Amino acid sequence: MEVASKQSTFKWDSKIPTGPLVDKWKTHKNNIKLVNPSNKRKYNIIVVGTGLAGASAAASLGELGYNVKAFCIQDSARRAHSIAAQGGINAAKNYANDGDSIWRLFYDTIKGGDYRAREANVYRLAEVSNSIIDQCVAQGVPFARDYGGMLVNRSFGGAQLSRTFYARGQTGQQLLLGAYSALMKTIKSGKVKMYTREEMLDLVTVDGVSKGIISRNLVTGKINRHAADAVLLCTGGYGNVFYLSTNAKNSNVTAAWRCYRKGALFGNPSFTQIHPTCIPVSGEYQSKLTLMSESLRNDGRVWVPKAKNDKRHPNDIPEDERDYYLERIYPSFGNLVPRDVASRNAKNVCDEGRGVGTSGLAVYLDFRDAIKRDSEQAIRERYGNLFEMYEKITDENPYEVPMRIYPAVHYTMGGLWVDYNLMTTVPGLFALGEANFSDHGANRLGASALMQGLADGYFVIPYTVGDYLAGITPGDVTTDHEAFEKTEKAIVAEIDKLLSIKGSKTILDFHRQLGKIMWDKVGMSRDEQGLKEAIAEISALRKEFWSDVFVPGEPATYNKYLEYAMRVADFIELGELMARDALERPESCGGHFREESKTPEGEAKRDDENYAYVSAWEFTGVDTPPVHHKEPLVFENVKLTQRSYK
Ligand SMILES: Cc1cc2nc3c(=O)[nH]c(=O)nc-3n(C[C@H](O)[C@H](O)[C@H](O)COP(=O)(O)OP(=O)(O)OC[C@H]3O[C@@H](n4cnc5c(N)ncnc54)[C@H](O)[C@@H]3O)c2cc1C
Repeated sequence: MEVASKQSTFKWDSKIPTGPLVDKWKTHKNNIKLVNPSNKRKYNIIVVGTGLAGASAAASLGELGYNVKAFCIQDSARRAHSIAAQGGINAAKNYANDGDSIWRLFYDTIKGGDYRAREANVYRLAEVSNSIIDQCVAQGVPFARDYGGMLVNRSFGGAQLSRTFYARGQTGQQLLLGAYSALMKTIKSGKVKMYTREEMLDLVTVDGVSKGIISRNLVTGKINRHAADAVLLCTGGYGNVFYLSTNAKNSNVTAAWRCYRKGALFGNPSFTQIHPTCIPVSGEYQSKLTLMSESLRNDGRVWVPKAKNDKRHPNDIPEDERDYYLERIYPSFGNLVPRDVASRNAKNVCDEGRGVGTSGLAVYLDFRDAIKRDSEQAIRERYGNLFEMYEKITDENPYEVPMRIYPAVHYTMGGLWVDYNLMTTVPGLFALGEANFSDHGANRLGASALMQGLADGYFVIPYTVGDYLAGITPGDVTTDHEAFEKTEKAIVAEIDKLLSIKGSKTILDFHRQLGKIMWDKVGMSRDEQGLKEAIAEISALRKEFWSDVFVPGEPATYNKYLEYAMRVADFIELGELMARDALERPESCGGHFREESKTPEGEAKRDDENYAYVSAWEFTGVDTPPVHHKEPLVFENVKLTQRSYK
């Protein structure tokens, strides 16, 4: 498809295979090019990020025989943000015998994303989901089992069956340990070389083609060059643009943002997931929010008092004075409605003055009935570590008093635009996992991020990267090329500039200020006026940052401030793009809720006629507006309907 706009003619193609939906991936795999085993060792691949997406990709590609360099900013691949994932991972195994199938997983995911994802990608995701479970079991991932040894499942929002595999409340950790062992095997065999505490700061392109990266060693401050035939970006999501989020503090957008600046389109940047079950904000100086896994909604019942400003202790509020509002409004899905729906309803009841806790910005998640029904021991076995975490943070015992929860920024559906092969609009640059915009449309269903990251890394990229590599000459660009020289110089100049400003405000001041604008105006609900104000305020903040930030320390040494300043600089630019993206889409869909577009019941109202597309943004310069491209979404297999969970 060629998309022309006033400013640019950009050639891009989503490369969705033709033919029936159920055969697309199979046919594609049969038709794409292969690299023969002895040629594989001639190709170098860089994998940036070793969370679930990156570790699985690096291990798989190393195992195939490619030479892989893998990078992460932590001191070990095991400390990627993926380790925080609690609840589980979906797959269409139908072990619960409750009617699941690949088709149902596909359908729930497309519908859950409010029909803003590609059918072909989502179907492939559902199709490979079962292989992920087999792979992880073979690696020894300790999924929960029943007394007879069979794997068990629990339910997550947006599905009327149980398809979520889990390892207590530590699923991400256990999956990452599996991927990490596979990665370590290839490191030992010499096929993968691991660079820890090494941050990618820019992409190097030659004639618009990805040929390597510039990185900074976070311990010594040394700037390094790395050439490769393909670069895979597996750098996670950018929820920390809101300052407060459930993401790991180190999660950032820098690598993806630098690729955007080098020509990779950014897809649906404003599509952000606000998770309904997080521990509420407790004060101005909080630095982090904590998730209480969605799995808790299997047994916990969400409620608020029926009366406004009811300050009684929750245990003193009688049954008939409680409003189990999700069960009341959505009788068929009840507490297991998808996240966007649960979050919006929590906000609504709090806006009505029925929120609980000192701030009034919280609702109850109550296990009283589940404990009565199944025993405290049974609940402890299911969620013990989550209850413990809650008690440590709030000093309240959730076995005795209902948890207080409130929505918080959790996941970003937006990311680098990729085609069916996971390649961005920069040839040779791929994006996997949360870093790409891919499969979740406007709202991700619970337990689908781990599925997507591992699908991308274990089962998609090993095929599609070969298709690209088979068409190019290995090693045609080395780090002596002038493109490396130029990119490195630009990075060094940027570092020098940041350190020389010596302004009056801390980096944290700027990040907090950005987060406040984002939450107030680009957060759970958005409107035209607020978005226009956000664009103007963020643009002004950017100028202030570059003239008044104080970044202490030296460049060529361990310098946490410098790392942080570079990430915040990129977050500020991203924030502006997110506001533009949200402004351009006056419909509501999934987590993107425009006040101007709601049904009489207050639900998100889509406009399929005008907005059934992926927004993909092209960078034109920091001070010039980006170009807006649209990839039309074609639905041949599902009927677009108003989402209903009633
Ligand atoms: C608290 C919490 C619980 C969750 N629970 C679930 C769940 O139960 N089920 C589910 O499906 N999803 C869950 N999610 C979402 C899921 O955890 C993430 O979407 C997923 O783990 C992202 O994996 P990833 O590999 O794409 O990125 P990450 O795990 O974020 O890894 C990013 C990697 O990139 C590296 N990196 C980043 N920038 C650079 C750079 N510039 N240079 C070098 N390296 C870089 C990092 O070091 C890291 O190795 C949860 C999320 C949170 C926050």
